[in-house]
Amino acid sequence: NLSERLKTVAKYIKKEAILADIGSDHAYLPCYALLHGLISKGIAGEITEGPLQSAMQQVAKNNLQDLIDVRKGDGLEVIGTGEVTCITIAGMGGSLITSILESGKEKLEGVERLILQPNIGAYSIREWLLQNGWELIAEEIIEEDRKIYEILVAEKGKPNKPYKMPELLLGPFLLKEKNTVFQKKWTHELLHWEKILNQLEQAEKNDQNTVRKNELLQKIKIVKGVL
Ligand code: SAM
Repeated sequence: NLSERLKTVAKYIKKEAILADIGSDHAYLPCYALLHGLISKGIAGEITEGPLQSAMQQVAKNNLQDLIDVRKGDGLEVIGTGEVTCITIAGMGGSLITSILESGKEKLEGVERLILQPNIGAYSIREWLLQNGWELIAEEIIEEDRKIYEILVAEKGKPNKPYKMPELLLGPFLLKEKNTVFQKKWTHELLHWEKILNQLEQAEKNDQNTVRKNELLQKIKIVKGVL
């Protein structure tokens, strides 16, 4: 049974898509998408041998070898330009996701939709999308097994009004909705930042600490302003 987290990612796959799931691990997502008729063909990319093997096993177990290709490689290097219409990258940090997109930029030609699920650091993804001509079309925030996840969906195109703070940090769609998971996440973050701030106040005064303190104060102000 697929996790709520990956089901939420799958929900945004456009029908008949050709999907590349990068950092696929056990290939649960492409297998599920294929078995549910969401995609016509899939590629599972993995950089690590162990997860690559479990992806192959999962694909074989479902008899999907003809429709899901498991490929070993770093990020988008496993796909050809124009080969896929949709890319999913889930379960990694936001900065790793953006570095995968950044180093594989030329492979994004022909890709219609990106569905990204950062465990942390959605901010850096929103910033990258904005700077690279991708428009956020939907966002979700969910809680599963006491962990909170954000799912970001983007399509080619520039947003009418480029968002800045607080949208960049909190998510334009999530901010509009402000659901209970959203409130919970940012209440926790706020407490966490205030704790660090407190520690910094007691620590040695140097330039580095001052910079960190100012960054935290800025983020605290942004989040306090919306909660
Ligand atoms: N996407 C799955 C999910 O959401 O359940 C698996 C997430 S798992 C925590 C992250 C996977 O990404 C690992 O299996 C790791 O080997 C893979 N990975 C990390 N960096 C990668 C890269 N640059 N290219 C391809 N795979 C990568």
